[in-house]
Amino acid sequence: MKFKRQEETSFQAIGLHNIAKSPQWARLSPDLREAVEVVGNVLPFRTNRYVLDELIDWTRVPDDPIFQLVFPQRGMLQSDEYREVRSLLRSDASSDLVTAAVTRIRLNLNPHPAGQLTHNVPTVGDQQLEGIQHKYRETVLFFPSQGQTCHAYCTYCFRWAQFVGLDGFTFRAKETDTLVSYLRAHPEISDVLVTGGDPMIMKSKVLRRYIEPLLSPDLEHVQNIRFGTKAVTYWPQRFVTDTDADDCLRLFEEIEAAGRHVAIMGHYSHPVELEPEIARHAIRRIRETGAQIRMQAPLIKHVNDDPRVWATLWENGVRLGLIPYYMFIERDTGARKYFEVPLLKAYEIFTEAYRTVSGLARSVRGPSMSAFPGKVRVLGTLTLRDLIDRHVFETLRQSFGFDILGEPDRRMVLCDLIQARNPKWVNVPFLAELDEDAAWFDDLRPALGQKRFPFDVDEDREQRHSTASLTELLHD
Ligand SMILES: *Cc1c(COP(=O)(O)O)cnc(C)c1O
Ligand code: SF4
Repeated sequence: MKFKRQEETSFQAIGLHNIAKSPQWARLSPDLREAVEVVGNVLPFRTNRYVLDELIDWTRVPDDPIFQLVFPQRGMLQSDEYREVRSLLRSDASSDLVTAAVTRIRLNLNPHPAGQLTHNVPTVGDQQLEGIQHKYRETVLFFPSQGQTCHAYCTYCFRWAQFVGLDGFTFRAKETDTLVSYLRAHPEISDVLVTGGDPMIMKSKVLRRYIEPLLSPDLEHVQNIRFGTKAVTYWPQRFVTDTDADDCLRLFEEIEAAGRHVAIMGHYSHPVELEPEIARHAIRRIRETGAQIRMQAPLIKHVNDDPRVWATLWENGVRLGLIPYYMFIERDTGARKYFEVPLLKAYEIFTEAYRTVSGLARSVRGPSMSAFPGKVRVLGTLTLRDLIDRHVFETLRQSFGFDILGEPDRRMVLCDLIQARNPKWVNVPFLAELDEDAAWFDDLRPALGQKRFPFDVDEDREQRHSTASLTELLHD
């Protein structure tokens, strides 16, 4: 297979400053162009030639799923906010005025969901370890400082606040030293998940500097090195024609040779991302190193809120040797009203897709929310009338009256935790009540008159022991 050499295809980011130079810009209607400019001043916007040329079907714009995935859309802002930014830009208002309005709108978009900045950051003494997050016992997240951007931005990204430089976000590690000493002190950690942004934005030699120290024999308990990346879909050239593509694959081989597993946590949103020949070639080359690619993505209205899309994604993925892993519910941040899929709808889409695919594709789990207590999975819905035998139901009703059962047809949702702050809650089901349009964990309440969820007992304790180290909490 022949691909254009690197000189012809080297990566160049396209954003608000240069999108007008792209041949496709002229194809957009004035309204769509205006929306890109107005909303692109509030939310991050970044794309590249490959996404424009190979992934977006311009005859389907604006409904095309990849256009929705990377281009700012009018509906992402409330209409008064949209009009405000538009009139400021049109009137050539001073940049101070624009910045003030934009900042106010951004702060209304819940920029830091679920205690991202304040929780899960390990400490040594009273010093916070920058660029490391440790929420689940066996896995640490590592955010190298040079991997804090991506080859294109997803408009729904929950890290959007970081990309627009909303605040002095310093959640990133300059060196591997702190990680290595943390890992040494924590033999329970088997997985390091290198994330960002996108760590594959880094040059291979920079990536190597971060990774090689983890392969030291005294860190043998670190069995799996994972890379969270969307480069497999936004810039597969990273693994094929970039000047340091081979060097990156060699690094994967070295990790494997050191007896560790390389897991590429590939962010795949839609089956069109698997179509270009270069994307398939990237998969083959990565797999030849011994690494495996798992696929995961959030469920997003306008992008992939259709069971056929997911079923095709998983089936085609499996055929190419990928392992379906997670379907996520999008976090409650950014333009969430635009992207939101209600939990019950998400469950239906997941189930419909899951039913149609081979068992090989049913390695996927979801729909799952990365919420404060852990990864909460929706397992299905129930009513009291479903649970209680009809005759028993009638007897209860006649003996005690209807009220004792509250609303017997009210839908409850059965959930469990795929991952939990405290491992003892993993795989333990619990029941919640919800409104039909509930879209996030915070919209769930304990069912059947319970005052709290089982795992909330632990949260109380965590509050009391807020000065105790994370390790103590995890071990008791
Ligand atoms: C999802 C996630 C992980 C990895 O969980 P796995 O189920 O092992 O893939 C680790 N840390 C955080 C904070 C996560 O959200
Ligand atoms: S690739 Fe990942 S980190 Fe980058 S914008 Fe998309 S969701 Fe965010």
